[in-house]
Amino acid sequence: MNIYPKVYFDGAVRPKEEAKISLASNSLQYGVTCFAGIKGYVKEGEIRIFRLQDHAKRLLTATKILGMEVDITEESICQAVLEVVLANPVKENVYIRPFVFTPDEVIAPKPCGQKFQLAIYLLPMDHLYDPTRGLRLMVSSWRKFSDAAIPTKAKAGGCYINSFLATGDALRAGYDEALLMDHSGNVVEASVANILLSYRGRLIVPQVGEAQLDGITMRSVVEILELDGLKVSFEKVDRSMVYSCDELLLTGTAAQVMFAESVDGREIGNKGPGEICIKLQKAFLEIINNCHPKSDTWLTNREIKS
Ligand code: PMP
Repeated sequence: MNIYPKVYFDGAVRPKEEAKISLASNSLQYGVTCFAGIKGYVKEGEIRIFRLQDHAKRLLTATKILGMEVDITEESICQAVLEVVLANPVKENVYIRPFVFTPDEVIAPKPCGQKFQLAIYLLPMDHLYDPTRGLRLMVSSWRKFSDAAIPTKAKAGGCYINSFLATGDALRAGYDEALLMDHSGNVVEASVANILLSYRGRLIVPQVGEAQLDGITMRSVVEILELDGLKVSFEKVDRSMVYSCDELLLTGTAAQVMFAESVDGREIGNKGPGEICIKLQKAFLEIINNCHPKSDTWLTNREIKS
């Protein structure tokens, strides 16, 4: 991973070499962090950042849910993101990772006066998955934890041990990615993306219940489809529905909109991108190209040095 040379750390933009924390930091020991993942698209001499304010809002909400006292606001997160992005020689699409952590050496998984702060780094990223073919998915034997165990809406660092386990097994078994069921056997999401099904003529997103992240891309997809007169319903999704749907899409900041070619070896649709996938990928291109009705509200555009 090749992160850009300037990062935001300890209240200022600095060279990444200056961003050092103790081996005994509470965040490193216990995953006591929360984070955001934001995509910036480089087009026509500009960087166009997708739903910056919404990501900043979700990050700040996460600090509240997790009980981390921070001295930051939505505006200061957005400001810091723009500052660090513009301080770097960005020439291609980027993934921006703002996160809240504590550098304090606290060898106990409990709040005891740790000071939390914002840090941000970014890296070049175009596609997370190979866009030339569909994903081969596996339903994981690991279950998605419920909000009764760890807040699922908070994007807390430690939660991602669950994704690490599920994706690890999927990759070792020769698949591209894992789908996770909750404790009742409902398929809730993929390891780092939400899902959407086209099933018997209806578009379905698993009910935003206690076990999945309320994805910003998923919410965007629902709005885009509704602008096109298509209704999306939020329902329980079981494994048989996933096996027998006409289209299965993954949606996420890094994943963007990707289609599944198979799940547990069962082919989905005609193995290629279906009608909804093509429609959504086209809409996202229009958004980034500044020619979609949502471009103005969803993009934060800044000129970059050539
Ligand atoms: N679920 C999980 C567990 C994720 O990590 C992500 C990626 N942030 C998503 C869903 C998709 O969310 P978003 O569209 O906000 O990136």
